[in-house]
Amino acid sequence: MATCRTHVFTVPALTRTTLVFMGASRKDRAIARRTFLGFAAVFTTAGVVGTITTDNAKARAAFDDALAEWVASADAVDESSAAFSAAQTEAIAAAAEASTVIEVTNAEMLQDSATLDTLRASLDALVAAGLLTIAAPGEVTATTTAPDPRSTPDVPDGREAQLAQAQSLTDDAAHLSETAETSERSTSELEAATTAALADIDAVVASAAAHGAAVEVPSLASQETKDAYAAAVAALGDPAAGSASQRIGAYQQSWTAVQDSQAAAEAAQARGNSGGGDDGVQPTYINGILIVNKTYRLPSWYGNGLTGDTLAAFERMRAEAASVGHNLWIASGFRSYATQVKVYNSYASRDGSAAADRYSARPGHSEHQSGLAFDLNTITEAFGYTPEGQWVAANAHRFGFIVRYPQGKEGVTGYIWEPWHLRYLGVDTATAVYNSGLSLEEYLGITSVYS
Ligand SMILES: [Zn+2]
Repeated sequence: MATCRTHVFTVPALTRTTLVFMGASRKDRAIARRTFLGFAAVFTTAGVVGTITTDNAKARAAFDDALAEWVASADAVDESSAAFSAAQTEAIAAAAEASTVIEVTNAEMLQDSATLDTLRASLDALVAAGLLTIAAPGEVTATTTAPDPRSTPDVPDGREAQLAQAQSLTDDAAHLSETAETSERSTSELEAATTAALADIDAVVASAAAHGAAVEVPSLASQETKDAYAAAVAALGDPAAGSASQRIGAYQQSWTAVQDSQAAAEAAQARGNSGGGDDGVQPTYINGILIVNKTYRLPSWYGNGLTGDTLAAFERMRAEAASVGHNLWIASGFRSYATQVKVYNSYASRDGSAAADRYSARPGHSEHQSGLAFDLNTITEAFGYTPEGQWVAANAHRFGFIVRYPQGKEGVTGYIWEPWHLRYLGVDTATAVYNSGLSLEEYLGITSVYS
């Protein structure tokens, strides 16, 4: 018993209950032990199962909550993407129209040419806001498109997987919310840019209409072209008459038709007057360019030496040519009507008028009388093959000159190749003619034929 007593004082209180039975019979003790262990086992199992069941439900609930949050965010992204796509479609149409308007509009035919610059700037902003690319005027595409809507994730098996997935969905939902907010802001910016571009297109149209109403229509143009021009100007104020670019294009074309008609009338007048004396002959300008050729003549009184612009441009060209080792000089500059009478008559008496007409102009028809033309260095075809002649052919336009009678164009210009004869047009026009590869007659669509 001494041993037993020792146990009583040293074992924990719970065990003490068991020891109460130690004084009883072996059978009683065995029954008591089985009863206690069985009870303890049932109690413990129930607790563990209860705990596991509770944890699984919590994991699933956490997953469901995270999923709901994710779905809401994903829906917001999908909605904002769709809104951006719709705004992008509007923006593409606006950018296509804006780029076409810019292409067809001649700033000189606007009352306020700054409206065109404003439209250019608003188009740039629209392209940036809409993530657009313009391949050519009117050809606009989006560089990015909205992603397809997301599909809802499946519920994973197992508590651990559900908890991990819940965390992942929660993180993803936060990113999606940011994306949706960014997308909404982008959509607002894009809609504002589209509205601005459309307003700027309207401003260009209004400016064209104001110019069209104020401009003085050339008096000699045919009534038909004047009426067409008036109708085109009126149409600028009528959106039902077509897109802005169509209306501006029609307006500008009708203006060209008026000018062409005016030029034709002037030419007819010049031809009608070229038969006798100077009566009514006036210098002819086409698109602002003084034209002197076999069709168009100058009055006998016209001309007073090379013009200041022509001389200044020659001096610039001469200096640059000298800097690269080429020596240029004017062999023949201004020739008055009276001088040309002597020059032409001497050639005609030597070679006959038909032959003289190929290289020399009749009085009034010589460009040398205009003060805008001169002959360089040596007046022979060989000049075209010298380093000087080749440099002039390739560079004269940069100083405002064209080789007036190019090789192979006698049928159009009325003159054989004259690599030495330059005509001053100003840098812009000379460069445009040079780049066109055309003679001046072809460039302007005019003839050079004696009537
Ligand atoms: Zn000449």
